[in-house]
Amino acid sequence: MLRCEDIIEAVLSYNPGADITMIRRGYIFSAKVHKGQNRRSGEAYLSHPLEVAGILTQLQLDVPTIVAGFLHDTVEDTHTTREEVQELFGEEVASLVEGMTKISSIEYTTAEDRQAENIRKMIIAMVNDIRVILIKLADRLHNMRTLEHLFKEKQTRIAQETLDIYAPIAHRLGLGVIQRELEDLSLKFLNPEAYEEIAAKISGKKLELSAYAVEISALIQEKIRDLNIQVAVKARPISIYGVYKKMVSLQIPFERVFDVIRIRILAQRVIDCYTLLGVVHNLWKPVPGKFQDFIGVPRTNQYQSLHTLVMGHKGHPVRVQILTDEMQRRSERGITVQWKYKQSPTESQEQKAERFFWLKRLLQLQKELLDSREFLTSVKKDLFPDVIYVFTPKGEVRELLKGSTPIDFAFNIHTEIGRRAVGCRVNGREVSMDFTLNNGDAVEIITSDEQTFQREWLRFAKTPKARARIKEWLRSKERERSIEFGRAMLQDTFDRYQVDKTILNNGDAFQDLIHKIGHHDREKFLENVGYGKVSPLLAVEKLLSSKEFKRLKKKEDKLRKKEPGEAPATGIRVTGRDDIFIHMASCCNPIPGDRIIAFIGDKRGVTVHEIGCPLVPDLDVNPERRIEVVWDPDAKVARSVKVHVQVLDQPGVLADICSAITAQGGNIGKTHVFTTEDKTARCDFEIEVYDRKQLDEIISAIGKNKTVLKVERIKGIESPKSHV
Ligand code: MN
Repeated sequence: MLRCEDIIEAVLSYNPGADITMIRRGYIFSAKVHKGQNRRSGEAYLSHPLEVAGILTQLQLDVPTIVAGFLHDTVEDTHTTREEVQELFGEEVASLVEGMTKISSIEYTTAEDRQAENIRKMIIAMVNDIRVILIKLADRLHNMRTLEHLFKEKQTRIAQETLDIYAPIAHRLGLGVIQRELEDLSLKFLNPEAYEEIAAKISGKKLELSAYAVEISALIQEKIRDLNIQVAVKARPISIYGVYKKMVSLQIPFERVFDVIRIRILAQRVIDCYTLLGVVHNLWKPVPGKFQDFIGVPRTNQYQSLHTLVMGHKGHPVRVQILTDEMQRRSERGITVQWKYKQSPTESQEQKAERFFWLKRLLQLQKELLDSREFLTSVKKDLFPDVIYVFTPKGEVRELLKGSTPIDFAFNIHTEIGRRAVGCRVNGREVSMDFTLNNGDAVEIITSDEQTFQREWLRFAKTPKARARIKEWLRSKERERSIEFGRAMLQDTFDRYQVDKTILNNGDAFQDLIHKIGHHDREKFLENVGYGKVSPLLAVEKLLSSKEFKRLKKKEDKLRKKEPGEAPATGIRVTGRDDIFIHMASCCNPIPGDRIIAFIGDKRGVTVHEIGCPLVPDLDVNPERRIEVVWDPDAKVARSVKVHVQVLDQPGVLADICSAITAQGGNIGKTHVFTTEDKTARCDFEIEVYDRKQLDEIISAIGKNKTVLKVERIKGIESPKSHV
């Protein structure tokens, strides 16, 4: 069993200034709270946190991470609380331990590829600090090393999870050594026969390959004797799982995997790598198309090396990697490499630039990142942008956009679940449908057969899928309603003109009728009448003689004029219609010159909005309801608008402003003036104007007054009080 002193010694070897008291305290605390607990192997529980901390020192991590390694199981498996850890070891250690506790609550059940990928992403997205993942990997590595003490069933489950989840995470973070060991150990428990077979054969192969490496090294040394280059040639490390994977994927026996000799050439400087590549290509014939420059263009996990394939050492093809020692370290220790240098305050600009070169590649950031935590956050943001991962009641992981709500989740599961959603429980607690979901939430939708789509869901549905489904439904619903409404309008009009209505129920005759009006589709015709786009009079006109029609129309028009509350003039023209009621929307109160958009309302009539009105996107759900309108250039209709003015409170100011308004032809209606303690006055004017141009002139005239601090048009009908 490792001792605390071994850990301290290891830390001091790469971090001479480390706070060893802190490490010792972490060890003592862990020993105290785990006292009396045993591992299944019969060993004292303490051996586990010690080994985990030991693995973390091999990654050369900082003191808080090592201490968190000692403490990683305390909150979950002992009576220790987060507060206690925070009090004794500070917030940094406490949050690392907390992160570990959080991850262990994630359960992995199915071996489905997509699910595995989502769990991997979720684990990384869930923690605030990538060091938590490094501790988790160390934890898993030690558990895998001691897996033989568990029951067979549990062994298989943990090994599969390791292979599906943790080894790929190690790979993604560039931790080659950990990845290989996790993979080999997983194979050992998932397919013991294959593992044993390969393990037995591999040691012989290793000797053979090392012998080749020595021969090749001699040939290269000979060539570079006069150059000032230091070089080491090694056989590539072979992992049991790597060989197994090749055998399975290429369907070849063990021996054939080694038809190709794999060597690694290590240089000191980047420039030497390219020189050595020339040497190799000079010694043997390169295979065209097999050269790859991962130094110039690193892989996404920051692996760097030159790859080439040459023909002919003793009849074998040779696969060659050429890289610097530094690149090799990165390929083994990935993102942890950066901590090694962190403690040196005397770092030169060049060293700094070299250190950050790799980080910059990883983050694709232009600026240097000086703080490791900022770095970690960026890595996370970079790998996993705007998504969250939540669980279904069955434990499946679903990916949603950040900011998603239960309604998004419901539609993500199934359109029917979305349609019938009436409530939601998140982590067992009931929440409203506009609740914002968080990473790792367990979400359960409560459904009812009585429920159906709601328009208000659009207010908080975030994902395109949910929004599309809701809008689709709203459209079809409105369409149905319009068809019904159109039929009713036709019947009503037929009654008033005393035309026989039975034609409406006679399929062929009705089809003939709408054909005469220039329509083809019956439903579409009814829908358009319902929306108010087509006048029902068109149908009546075709069924009466023109003389008769004119007579009845005159009578109708006369009746209509007598109706009280005749529509006020609006100065709006609706394309193709002159018998339609027009409302100006009070929310945005457009005036001639404003860009406008209009919608047919639920009642007969059109509502005109300013194009930027916040209500427009909601109304625009159904494009069928949109109707062409233009300002009538001949109409001169005065409209009332609100203008808010803020001025220095001086005598005569108000009079000056009023005369500025009237000088531009504005007619002042209601006026509210408030004076404030800071010696300013706020005035709200209602001014009647004819168009936007006139209003702009008035606003600019008011603005010319030197005491005016601010002048603006207020859209809508908010009460002046809201500006006090
Ligand atoms: Mn553990």
